[in-house]
Amino acid sequence: MAPVNKECDYLVIGGGSGGLASARRASGMYGAKAIAVENKRLGGTCVNVGCVPKKITWNAANIAETLKDAKAYGFDFKQGLPFDWTTFTQKRDAYIRRLNGIYEKNLKNDKVEYLHGTATFVDPHTVKVALDDGSEVSVNAKKILVAVGGHPNVPDIPGAELGITSDGFFELQTQPKKVAVVGAGYIAVEMAGMFHALGTETHLFIRHDTFLRTFDPMIQEKVVAEYERQGLHIHKQSSQSKVEDLGNGKKKLHYKDSNGEGSMEIDTLLWAIGRAPELEKLNLGITKVAQNDKGHIKTDEYQNTNVDHIYALGDVCDRGYELTPVAIAAGRKLSDRLFGGQSDAHLDYSNIPSVVFAHPEVGSIGLTEPEAREKFGDDSIKIYSSSFTAMYYSMMEQDEKGPTSYKLICTGKEEKVVGMHILGVGSAEILQGFGVAIKMGATKADFDRCVAIHPTSAEELVTMK
Ligand SMILES: Cc1cc2nc3c(=O)[nH]c(=O)nc-3n(C[C@H](O)[C@H](O)[C@H](O)COP(=O)(O)OP(=O)(O)OC[C@H]3O[C@@H](n4cnc5c(N)ncnc54)[C@H](O)[C@@H]3O)c2cc1C
Repeated sequence: MAPVNKECDYLVIGGGSGGLASARRASGMYGAKAIAVENKRLGGTCVNVGCVPKKITWNAANIAETLKDAKAYGFDFKQGLPFDWTTFTQKRDAYIRRLNGIYEKNLKNDKVEYLHGTATFVDPHTVKVALDDGSEVSVNAKKILVAVGGHPNVPDIPGAELGITSDGFFELQTQPKKVAVVGAGYIAVEMAGMFHALGTETHLFIRHDTFLRTFDPMIQEKVVAEYERQGLHIHKQSSQSKVEDLGNGKKKLHYKDSNGEGSMEIDTLLWAIGRAPELEKLNLGITKVAQNDKGHIKTDEYQNTNVDHIYALGDVCDRGYELTPVAIAAGRKLSDRLFGGQSDAHLDYSNIPSVVFAHPEVGSIGLTEPEAREKFGDDSIKIYSSSFTAMYYSMMEQDEKGPTSYKLICTGKEEKVVGMHILGVGSAEILQGFGVAIKMGATKADFDRCVAIHPTSAEELVTMK
């Protein structure tokens, strides 16, 4: 069957956070003829196997922790209430399916043509889309956006395929009794934290002595210590050599950690050791678009690649921020520039706030202390920090109290705030507002001029000495 031929102004490959945002703006706001191609589910990683189901699961974990804390506040009920993982995941997945439908409707409302299939470059201006029914569409586009995101990595050791990745976390139909999570980035830390809070015996294997190693040292040390206080088993200085299938869904992980060689029987092994760009099926080579040594597409801050009419954004590109709002903002700005006549529109990649839904939550914006010392010199920075017990824990025994720690990094005579790092209850919500102030160039004096809100933890951020 000869392929159907289509033409458009803007072909967007990947119906995830960045691709959808860009296609909808180009067509809905500026009237460009846009086509979006997606080969899995609309909404991409964030909606289907990332932020959204993760946060809903984190909410469940948070409720489990609150139920534990309730005793200290005088609630008298049986501890260890059962958690029905299966019912919970079915409800969560139904919510995601509703979102998929809403995303499809939004594309229609903005007159973006949607093709469900896999896109492959045939030449720099032409993409072949293999549709679900086996037929093919050939699209010739004036401009092409590559927004294909990434996928989780699995190590190259015998039996590695017996493990799951973060994608598989969202497919678990029943709650594992005992898990091993391997990795030290935010996905590993979040997933280990959720398993543990929901009552699974959790072992987290990290390569060094701390996790979240791109975050400020204060965050690394305090969250590791807190996970250990909570009873999560952290295997430091670890590596894994092989995985064996024991039958009945059980596996044996062979490893080395700071205590020497060991092995462990587990129900579930989860690899969270990093992500790679999803370029396997795209035949990008034919376009001569340049990639870095990890395969990410090289872009400038305008999302231009080295090929005139091909752009890239989100997790597939090399800008260093794998976050949904970054992909969305870059996508909208790109369409403002390409179709909205705003020749300088681009995302400012400085001071992007990010959080980790750990236990407790972590928030971070700007430079870490080592980065600030390196950039400005030891004599040009001033650090304000505070560690305290939040009032939430006032009713608890000493050994049940969680940590709260805040750090502000300031530079110059005017003490401009160039970094803020926080951990403790509510940190994710706290950071958003302070992010605005820091993006506007706030100084320590600006922070101090804002009257505290009492009694909160965040008031500490405007009263630091
Ligand atoms: C477990 C987890 C938790 C996360 N939590 C957060 C969070 O709390 N906050 C946050 O901001 N970010 C979070 N992220 C990151 C966030 O999900 C990504 O940064 C974001 O989804 C990137 O958007 P994107 O548009 O670049 O790619 P994606 O959303 O990954 O979309 C790319 C799409 O392209 C499709 N595709 C790929 N190749 C082809 C092809 N050849 N043809 C057709 N379609 C193709 C894919 O199927 C996919 O749907 C999380 C990620 C993970 C994995």
